[in-house]
Amino acid sequence: MAELALNNAIKRYGATQVIHGVDLQVDDGDFCVFVGPSGCGKSTLLRMIAGLEETSDGRMTIGGRDVTHADPARRGVAMVFQTYALYPHMTVRENMSFGLRIGGTEKSEITRKVDAAAQILKLGDYMDRKPKALSGGQRQRVAIGRAIVRQPDVFLFDEPLSNLDAELRVEMRVEIAKLHKQLGATMIYVTHDQVEAMTMADKIVVLRDGRIEQAGPPVRLYEDPDNLFVAGFIGSPRMNFFDGTVVRGGSHVALPRLGGVEVPVTVSAALRDGHSVRLGLRPEHFEPEAPLRAELAIDVIENLGGVSYAYSSAEGDAHPVIVELRGKSRPNAGGMLQVGFDPASVLLFDSESGQRIR
Ligand code: ADP
Repeated sequence: MAELALNNAIKRYGATQVIHGVDLQVDDGDFCVFVGPSGCGKSTLLRMIAGLEETSDGRMTIGGRDVTHADPARRGVAMVFQTYALYPHMTVRENMSFGLRIGGTEKSEITRKVDAAAQILKLGDYMDRKPKALSGGQRQRVAIGRAIVRQPDVFLFDEPLSNLDAELRVEMRVEIAKLHKQLGATMIYVTHDQVEAMTMADKIVVLRDGRIEQAGPPVRLYEDPDNLFVAGFIGSPRMNFFDGTVVRGGSHVALPRLGGVEVPVTVSAALRDGHSVRLGLRPEHFEPEAPLRAELAIDVIENLGGVSYAYSSAEGDAHPVIVELRGKSRPNAGGMLQVGFDPASVLLFDSESGQRIR
């Protein structure tokens, strides 16, 4: 187990740069999740850490050792792939033993390590089966077992649950989180699914176009995002954004989409009248009794039982406004909904740069 540090890590393919100087510290024993839309560079960054892609520039250390250009086998990492990458002609035991056998580990030691991993992963009954006689979840457990027996300093997971159905994904999510607690190992996990990131991570790293947009604990990214991208990416249903203009000597923001309501803003930055801003408000932050009021035309109600979501689309909206509804009285689609919100729950962003105004 060890910490990982990247300093100005850069990846180029020929003349094209795809990772633009990433600085990152993952503490010993942390569960760190790389998340972001397709093509943002998550897999490339993970493969650079694994040594499967050469790092073009910058420096990488694991447990204080410089591994920037080290052979993958000498980095102290083990990777679990989305496609499992099991040998089809080998049994579960053989698949899990293979890396150790090649590395020259003694037979009794291999048996001990493989049995211990099989017990952790509840694979004991399947050790003589071949991969084709296993479910997707069991295959993924074998792939994880193969990583565990190597006792790496850092585990690397590349979208390991993407090939599983929704129910199994939730189950495996919990199992991997438990495994992390049990092993106390440093883990880096790549996913495009922000729910996986929120539920599993100690630290989330949000990537876009080969750069880190923000890194931190899930709750901080949710409650205190640095920019519009992170605010919109983390959270489901997503945050609502309203275009607004600064008015009244920099003290309020007027929101045309909410009937011109003027929201008092308290930020330390100086605002000038006429400045274009974007105001963020999460669906759960609408409260009927809150001081600021507006009215929304509702076109769809999504009833999930304990909670409902009201959707309001108007011309010019990039996304519908989503309001979370609790309690007994639920409006009908096609009607008007009175909504309220507290100025303390809104976040302010600069429309042009997308950066948070604090
Ligand atoms: P993600 O895992 O976030 O979906 P990737 O790390 O696979 O993204 O890709 C990041 C960027 O690098 C993409 O723009 C992709 O097209 C580019 N890329 C990946 N592999 C190569 C390659 N072998 N040659 C050139 N560009 C590549």
